[in-house]
Amino acid sequence: MTKKITIAIDGFSSTGKSTIAKQLAKQLGYIYVDTGAMYRAVTLYAMQHDYINEVSFNKESLINDLNNISLSFKFNSDLGFAEMFLNNINVEKEIRTIEVSKLVSQVSTVSEVRKKLVSEQQEMGKNKGIVMDGRDIGTVVFPDAELKLFMTASADKRAKRRYKELIDRGDKVNYEEILHNVQERDRIDSTRKDSPLIVANDAVEFDNSDMGLKEQFERILSLVDDKL
Ligand code: C5P
Repeated sequence: MTKKITIAIDGFSSTGKSTIAKQLAKQLGYIYVDTGAMYRAVTLYAMQHDYINEVSFNKESLINDLNNISLSFKFNSDLGFAEMFLNNINVEKEIRTIEVSKLVSQVSTVSEVRKKLVSEQQEMGKNKGIVMDGRDIGTVVFPDAELKLFMTASADKRAKRRYKELIDRGDKVNYEEILHNVQERDRIDSTRKDSPLIVANDAVEFDNSDMGLKEQFERILSLVDDKL
């Protein structure tokens, strides 16, 4: 049997982690898990129940309700990736809106939320053969992952990518708003007390500000080959 490994991809917002992770999982026949989607789905739940809005956050109510949040990924063969379901409802589209992006980093500071999601993520990866992307995968979720990547790029490049993604989807957003959101999420994610976004000691860093997808993917594949 071929050896299976765990690949952890962390990094700042909109660095193309999920594009690389999806491609890598497809090439290797591995499972791909987008942990950002899980934090986004919990945020959507909190918004739907009025626990959070732009001016207030009722953490206690969200914490007391966490047992009623069920998250699952279901593979969509037309799209070629798994979509996020919140209590059995497909929320893939809603979780990518700017409204969710504006609140997700606050929800992600809550230790009880992290504890729930980390344990679900560890369960998904217990048999290895997984590519998982997020902010704390190489440091907290899978500290023993065989390969850890840390992706970064200039804030301007990242905001431009995000802006294009949202405009292509038909969302009405402005560039300044996106740039501000990317910078604000990076700030909260890197400075929170529980599981801040930091580079794991043994991670390989990639600055892809000026690197094409093809070049990045080839470099990463050769790192994977070394591990296998
Ligand atoms: O990856 P994505 O940009 O969709 O993640 C959305 C947010 O979810 C991040 O900005 C961060 O606040 C949170 N997150 C996290 N830990 C993870 C994945 C995402 O705190 N492992």
